[in-house]
Amino acid sequence: MNCEEALPLMHEYLDGSMDGAEAAELKRHLLQCPDCNRIFRELEMTDALVKSTPRIVAPSDLTDRIMKSLPVRPKRDSWLSWVKRHPAISVASVFLFVMLGSFLSMWSQDQELTVKGNNLDQLVIEDGTVYLPKGHRVEGNLMVRGGDVQIDGDLDGNLVVVDGKYHTASTANISGKIYSINQAAEWLVYQVKEILAPAAQ
Ligand SMILES: [Zn+2]
Repeated sequence: MNCEEALPLMHEYLDGSMDGAEAAELKRHLLQCPDCNRIFRELEMTDALVKSTPRIVAPSDLTDRIMKSLPVRPKRDSWLSWVKRHPAISVASVFLFVMLGSFLSMWSQDQELTVKGNNLDQLVIEDGTVYLPKGHRVEGNLMVRGGDVQIDGDLDGNLVVVDGKYHTASTANISGKIYSINQAAEWLVYQVKEILAPAAQ
């Protein structure tokens, strides 16, 4: 089996529509081929995400929109036509897979200190550390990436710390949850959850 043959079989495998002999052949290829192995693990993760998020309702024209946005490569024609015949699971996988690609490139390129939230004037940023001093208050979620965080004041939302450490003083008051993320994969899962279920806390 070569890589061109393996990709559509991965989808069938994740769909649960594959017999034992074919599955065994695919597994043998995945053991030998690091590229396909990586793709399979990413597909498996997006598949699990899709299945664990029953709230996704894809717009009816999503298939067409994704198909139009994909680069046309003659070599992939057989795979694309397979996707067109199996729109439900594969569109979600392709959609998340495309996003995964852009997240991972964003992850490696952008290691600057990034702070996101409302009323950031309440914060003090010094030597790569973001302070929320006692008596200061941030309304809504606070996301800090590529730096450390020290919370002494009030945060009325979630604290998301990406690629950094955080410390909360005894005077700190955080109404939401604290997410500490130091892996690209965790970051992706967090982002996907944010996109798919923006209302969930
Ligand atoms: Zn391969």
